[in-house]
Amino acid sequence: MKMDGKTRKYCDPYRIDDGNSFRLKDFDPAETGDLSKEDAAELLVKGIVLTNDLQEKLYAQDQWAVLLVFQAMDAAGKDGIIKHVMSGVNPQGCQVTSFKQPSTRELNHDFMWRSVNELPQRGQIGIFNRSYYEEVLVVRVHPEILKTQHLPPQLVGKDIWQQRFDDIRAYERYLTRNGVVVRKFFLNVSKEEQKKRFLKRLDEPEKNWKFSEADVRERECWDQYMEAYEDMVRHTSSHHAPWYVVPADHKWFTRLVVSSAIIEALEQCRPAFPVVDDERRKELEKARKLLEGK
Ligand code: ATP
Ligand code: MG
Repeated sequence: MKMDGKTRKYCDPYRIDDGNSFRLKDFDPAETGDLSKEDAAELLVKGIVLTNDLQEKLYAQDQWAVLLVFQAMDAAGKDGIIKHVMSGVNPQGCQVTSFKQPSTRELNHDFMWRSVNELPQRGQIGIFNRSYYEEVLVVRVHPEILKTQHLPPQLVGKDIWQQRFDDIRAYERYLTRNGVVVRKFFLNVSKEEQKKRFLKRLDEPEKNWKFSEADVRERECWDQYMEAYEDMVRHTSSHHAPWYVVPADHKWFTRLVVSSAIIEALEQCRPAFPVVDDERRKELEKARKLLEGK
């Protein structure tokens, strides 16, 4: 896979730069971009090689950071996608953070606090497996969670979700202006496919550990979740921090779309090894002589 119009072809149809007219029903979770599974697998291998090459340069350049945010319903395949697409990337240049239910300490801070601490350094790729977007997803679907957040009651009004969207947008703009390239992925799995995957977790002993009754209960709120996801994409998509609404019923296609979007994000940073100037070259020559003389 080369980074040209062709690579972007795989991710561009799912990219939302402006969410105003976004409708989730226009995005089919089962789409496969007219590719065969074999072709997609071959492209993915090339994509992974390219990602590793770009990551090495990003690290050497030490200027930009890349933040990749993953959100999805359970069993959409977040963990597997992260594992596959980033396979082979130097672990020193990449950090994955999973955000679970907030701790007591985290609940005693503003909602962004725990993410700020996990942002990637310059030269690094940071992956958020769930993120501050949970604040407009699970918390919106279960507003009683707000009561655990110690917010002054006069600050919790009907505008709270709009305010959170505004704050998230402003925060992502701030990050962008500071050299953090932000890309967000909503792995869009269908309710039917989720059911199949849950049943597999019950059927296959080596998958039993993944099964959780709580996930099945969350399924009852499917429609509210979909509304929350749609509203999130509508309000928090922007040119500098776009959402990708990635078809997730076929994992092999999901991986290709995510991989090509990551390549696009890395290319944005124009990563390159630092150029050695004349003065430094002379120093390196001196060092060579020293080594050779001993
Ligand atoms: P796995 O693939 O292992 O199931 P997971 O990401 O689903 O991974 P879980 O421990 O099963 O991890 O779930 C984490 C839970 O934490 C989710 O239900 C999520 O909605 C919840 N959560 C994350 N952030 C917040 C938040 N800010 N407030 C409330 N709940 C949150
Ligand atoms: Mg889970």
